[in-house]
Amino acid sequence: MMKLIIKLKIYPYFLQFSKSTKKIKVREFETILGYVFYGEEYDSMQSSSISPFSILSIDKDENFCTFFQELLDMKHNRYENFILGNIMVDDIDKVAKSPKLKEIYNEIIQGVENCQNECEYFDVRGGGMPSSKLSGNGNRPEEGRFDATETLYCKLAIKKMADIVLEDLEIMSIK
Ligand code: SF4
Repeated sequence: MMKLIIKLKIYPYFLQFSKSTKKIKVREFETILGYVFYGEEYDSMQSSSISPFSILSIDKDENFCTFFQELLDMKHNRYENFILGNIMVDDIDKVAKSPKLKEIYNEIIQGVENCQNECEYFDVRGGGMPSSKLSGNGNRPEEGRFDATETLYCKLAIKKMADIVLEDLEIMSIK
């Protein structure tokens, strides 16, 4: 019952409010519209977060990681941590071929493939978001997996928002 009230009253209200004022943009709606119309080009962060060294994060001790910055200080049961080396000491070319990076990357790509196989919303945003997958679903980040699929975040921010925006686009197109 609660879900019905939220869908029927609150989201359309925000959508109408956003349209009528044209001054206030609701980020979540704008984001989904961007994905619907421009796909992956709309979100370079999304593709960067699954591409090794598209993002390079370095901490105060010159340790570095890639994919997304939160990995710098995360601990993990299987990987121990996500530090790949020290930027002042280690050769990036060697790190790029390291088993640790390969293992993380393979798990992230497996997560994308799992999403592609399982999720009807895959075309909206692809199945990346490794950060959300690692710490989503209430699991502790140290126990999380990059090859997971649905998280609470994508359920609310991607799937629910896509439903509302696509429904609204259909209504607009038949008027
Ligand atoms: S919405 Fe969630 S489950 Fe679906 S493809 Fe995206 S990340 Fe995967």
